[in-house]
Amino acid sequence: MISPFDLTGRTAIVTGANTGIGQAIAIALAQAGADIAAVGRSPASETVEQIRALGRRAEFVSADLSTIEPVQRIVDETVDKFGDLHILVNNAGIIRRADATDFTEADWDAVIDTNLKSVFFLCQAAGRHMIARHAREGGGGKIINIASMLTFQGGIRVPSYAASKSGIGGVTKLLANEWATKGLNVNAIAPGYIATNNTAALQADESRNAAILARIPAARWGEPNDLGGAAVFLASRAADYVQGHILAVDGGWLAR
Ligand code: NDP
Repeated sequence: MISPFDLTGRTAIVTGANTGIGQAIAIALAQAGADIAAVGRSPASETVEQIRALGRRAEFVSADLSTIEPVQRIVDETVDKFGDLHILVNNAGIIRRADATDFTEADWDAVIDTNLKSVFFLCQAAGRHMIARHAREGGGGKIINIASMLTFQGGIRVPSYAASKSGIGGVTKLLANEWATKGLNVNAIAPGYIATNNTAALQADESRNAAILARIPAARWGEPNDLGGAAVFLASRAADYVQGHILAVDGGWLAR
């Protein structure tokens, strides 16, 4: 009997797949059987090699998501190379830190453009393909957006990041509403504190690090691999009736 989590024969786009959470999710999807279009700015990636070593297909798709210019090409290149597209993981993201009183328009635009505008328009490009194919021959589609604790909370000194990640929650629910009858599931994962390049400065700051650990019920930083199972679940048939959900993977942070 085939596992409801089996992704054999499915093709996934994962953005920001070179590093951190995106790399871990790309590898977890491949371990579940998916082929992967790994999107990033720099092709110097071990991700593709690691996935090929698992016996799955993987291709690097070069794209800078600070504008929406590449979104249609990402989908077209993926469909050209793999023959179809079933799963999209919108993971690429950046953060800019400054007091709200000093925050610049450039830092506002950079984060909103990458973390929210490109996410929506990549959902649109991928969604159009998945909806059309589903209408012709079935097969559905799964979209997973990477949100944050700041989808639920305000945070501090990260105004554009907080706006982008709460915006991700809204877009995820809106697309679930619009596309649930068209064969698609649109959901999000909200990671807690995960040890990646993004959070290296926080981990290195002894007092901030101690305060963070004291606040996390699990009393440890998450690892990128902690996100893999949630992504496989939401990408799989096991999540066929899950819509517009934001799944926290946070060591209990929100429960506190
Ligand atoms: P990393 O910095 O390791 O990864 C960010 C990824 O985003 C990189 O692979 C990078 O690609 C990609 N990226 C950034 N800007 C662009 C761009 N303009 N075009 C294309 N790709 C881009 O950080 P994380 O793994 O921690 O972050 C991944 C996601 O998880 C982000 O959305 C982040 O907001 C979110 N998140 C992280 C948390 C954490 O604690 N770490 C907590 C909550 C959410 P490249 O390598 O090619 O430059």
